[in-house]
Amino acid sequence: MTRVGHGFDAHRLVEGRRLVLGGVEVPFERGALGHSDADVLAHALCDALLGAAALGDLGGHFPDIDPQWKDADSMKLLGACARLVREAGYELVNVDGTIVVDRPKLARYIPDMRARIAAVLALDLECVSVKAKTSEGMGYTGDGSGIAAHAVCAIER
Ligand code: MG
Repeated sequence: MTRVGHGFDAHRLVEGRRLVLGGVEVPFERGALGHSDADVLAHALCDALLGAAALGDLGGHFPDIDPQWKDADSMKLLGACARLVREAGYELVNVDGTIVVDRPKLARYIPDMRARIAAVLALDLECVSVKAKTSEGMGYTGDGSGIAAHAVCAIER
């Protein structure tokens, strides 16, 4: 039985924060605001994995009011979500994520993101896809006030 999951996340972009995407720090004048390191791609992937197994969502497992997750490395959360899915009896098949933001340009960082995600999920590189899209100046991902990510994954029993 193959199942699919979908995840979405968004964060504000503000001065004085790091921009971490898929476990990779991207140099930029602003970073993502959040309780953890606010890795929007990692969070979308977490929700895709949990969703595929109908295990709820990231906030339910790792509440953002819990001091334990303050400034947390979201790749550790992603690893924990993969563990939950495997403990529920599933194999991970593939993941595919899309980051939506006009600036900064992300193409050069995507190979590192894929490698980090593949390592954390214990998947072959060919089973991990990361893409970046702009939104042509429209909305919060286009005017620089925020960043979003979508993700899907497949798992099988
Ligand atoms: Mg988030």
